[in-house]
Amino acid sequence: MSAAPGVRGASGDDDAHAQDDAPPAHDAPGAPADVPRADVTPDAAPLPALTDLPVDGYEAALSDVRGARPFHARNLRRWVLQRGATSWDAMTDLSKALRGELARRFRIRRGELLRTHESRDGTVGLLTRLDDGRLIESVSIPDGGRRTLCISSQVGCAVACRFCASGLDGVERNLSAGEIVEQVLLARDLDGDHPLTNYVFMGSGEPTHNLANVLAAIRVMNADDGLGIGARRITVSTVGHPAALEKLADEPIAFNLALSLHVPGDDARRALMPGLGSSDLVATLDAAQKRFDATGRRLTAEVVLLDRVNDAPAQADELARLLHGRPVAVNLIPWNPVDGVELRAPRPERVEAFAERLRKAGVTTTVRRPRGRDVGVACGQLRRRAQGAGGRRDAR
Ligand code: SF4
Repeated sequence: MSAAPGVRGASGDDDAHAQDDAPPAHDAPGAPADVPRADVTPDAAPLPALTDLPVDGYEAALSDVRGARPFHARNLRRWVLQRGATSWDAMTDLSKALRGELARRFRIRRGELLRTHESRDGTVGLLTRLDDGRLIESVSIPDGGRRTLCISSQVGCAVACRFCASGLDGVERNLSAGEIVEQVLLARDLDGDHPLTNYVFMGSGEPTHNLANVLAAIRVMNADDGLGIGARRITVSTVGHPAALEKLADEPIAFNLALSLHVPGDDARRALMPGLGSSDLVATLDAAQKRFDATGRRLTAEVVLLDRVNDAPAQADELARLLHGRPVAVNLIPWNPVDGVELRAPRPERVEAFAERLRKAGVTTTVRRPRGRDVGVACGQLRRRAQGAGGRRDAR
């Protein structure tokens, strides 16, 4: 699921900022100047990217590199994951000869930042080109003292929620673990005076459709000798297939889980999320509760509210009945309009009434504040615009 906090969620009726008076996007001057690009040639398979290694994989990867000792693996890992080095030259505690050997075997990949879109509220959309020319986006969202990075897990999405730009063209491919980690490294490079504090898998893609790589990335993000991000600061947002949730229940890293619920009732949910497949909300909630029982970590149900689709009082009551007695809080996300999608944002008074009904029924409920609306960074929109709305997918 990809409801970036407050990004897709914007109440539309009070939108004072027309698209055409939005602050301009900033074209990045290509990749940072010191990122070596010569390591990718059209004729040769790219070298393995260091960011795709698990944290404990550096020792094995360097085991047959001439001149490398075990402590060099530690140093290299620190340069790549903690110091965010983007060139071999930066790694001054590795000898020049060793750096040369390493450069023949591996590459320092970071994705190529094409453009940033900065909103008046401080939200920053990052459009990045992958090695194969495909585009992804990440969104960095300020909220009080926090700054949350919304991370993509796939190029596109197969769930094809009717309100989301990410699913309009289906899914193109999964991101590797390294491509996920690199979104964090890239955003950290840019976060300046407002460091990232929270990380949510709510960008393009359904994380459980790429579960192995998402979990591998989370392990790198969470490890002390990786990016050192506490599990409480990481949230995986998923449509919640019970089988995938069962697997998550066994995952030792106790990150937060958010269910993209959107509308109570299996038929209504499938209509809104056509790529959901067979789904049973009660089974989904039961499986999510196992994760809660195993970790004690917060469970959230996300509801992207759409005018006259799922914002009726009766639907609030049905949702309250569904969640009764479960340790689930609801996060209401008033929909952010998406180019080419013929839906309407809910009226603010209907959003408030919906929230109030849930609260009166005893369900902890929050309403997400709009973010980044003046630059239209609702999930998948930057990428779609850059590739011509469903047209060209290879942006090279
Ligand atoms: S289409 Fe995919 S990325 Fe978009 S909201 Fe649905 S699950 Fe999330």
